[in-house]
Amino acid sequence: MTTLEKLTILADAAKYDASCTSSGVNRTARPGQMGSAQAAGICHSFSADGRCISLLKVLLTNHCIYDCKYCVNRASNQRPRAAFSPDELARLTMEFYRRNYIEGLFLSSGVIKNPDYTCEQMLEVLTLLRRRYRFGGYIHCKAIPGADNSLITQMGLLADRLSVNIELPSQASLKQLAPAKTKERILAPMRLITRSIAQNRQELACYRHSPVFAPGGQSTQMIVGASPESDYQILSLTQGLYDKYHLKRVFFSAYIPVQEDSLLPSVETKPPLLREHRLYQADWLLRFYGFRAEELLGSQNPTLSPNLDPKCAWALCHPELFPVEVNTATYSQLLRVPGIGVTSARRILTARWQTTLDFSSLKKLGVVLKRAQYFLTCSGHLTPGLRLSRGTALRGLTALESGLLPQEAPQQLSLFDSANFFWEDGLTWRANPQ
Ligand code: SF4
Repeated sequence: MTTLEKLTILADAAKYDASCTSSGVNRTARPGQMGSAQAAGICHSFSADGRCISLLKVLLTNHCIYDCKYCVNRASNQRPRAAFSPDELARLTMEFYRRNYIEGLFLSSGVIKNPDYTCEQMLEVLTLLRRRYRFGGYIHCKAIPGADNSLITQMGLLADRLSVNIELPSQASLKQLAPAKTKERILAPMRLITRSIAQNRQELACYRHSPVFAPGGQSTQMIVGASPESDYQILSLTQGLYDKYHLKRVFFSAYIPVQEDSLLPSVETKPPLLREHRLYQADWLLRFYGFRAEELLGSQNPTLSPNLDPKCAWALCHPELFPVEVNTATYSQLLRVPGIGVTSARRILTARWQTTLDFSSLKKLGVVLKRAQYFLTCSGHLTPGLRLSRGTALRGLTALESGLLPQEAPQQLSLFDSANFFWEDGLTWRANPQ
């Protein structure tokens, strides 16, 4: 098998990993045009300073001894298999880098023989790149659960970021769909990486030239829609992972049905992209806005609204906290207003030293007034011309959302949609307990 044939198989097999996102577009070059696009192979990630960098996203091999039911590479799936030798993959990465196709490597793998052997092979790729080829670009490497601690530690000293996929949100689902994996087996390397990063920080504070361990931190990926866990369970787990393991990111991957199995959604089912999108929005609120999972959802209302982004849904459920007076509100109060982000909240605080803010100045500071107008006053006044009445905010916000969302299917907007919320006493907007 030629290197190109291997690359085609192994880059395609890696595209389901969301920890690093591919463009998803296939486009061949045409006469008179410059460039082409591949759905798999080169993907984009973001560096610590916010730059978008392109990575070669590939598996070392798609052979796997395990049989995770949701995975296209599982042992029982009949599909073309391939494997790079470590030297072949290291050379390929360097050739791509020299041609300016990529700025780094995202390396994952199926499990060959056992986790230790797989990790050793991946480690060899990293060692060749860093030591023989003196490659200084970005490397994101998957740690294989079950591998020896010393191998994962060595990986961390060569890679910029490590990730261990948690895959499914509960032990029960893991048992059903990925019987070879357990929660403890997945969390053990995560714990090791967290400890090693913390220890490395202390070493670097004492010895400036200490080797650096995974400076880009660690991340994980969770499959959404393959198992029955609710959004509330997923968000609670996500919050626990941030709190306990200080992850940089938790990625959500909408389950793409690839084969019929009685334990999985049918292949006819569309990937739950809207759900994935809402989870990312809620994840953003956990990471940057000081929200907790139990504020957004609960056991009585465990599902994120498909019609509203989580921040708007939360604000509509808490009319007692709004409207907020923009000229006197604290930073944390401003952060909770839909349409005000971290940057615009900071700008508001700075601008207030100089002047009294009105709606036109809020727009200049980057506030999205189409959302924020329902929750703000400026010097005690609402947006000129806005009549806040029952349902105005809900209708305005859902109409706004419907133009922004990746649609699963065209839907008629309802003025009185009470699937997720209802008006209590005709005044208070409450989450529907059912
Ligand atoms: S171990 Fe990874 S590659 Fe192997 S079947 Fe499970 S998810 Fe797929």
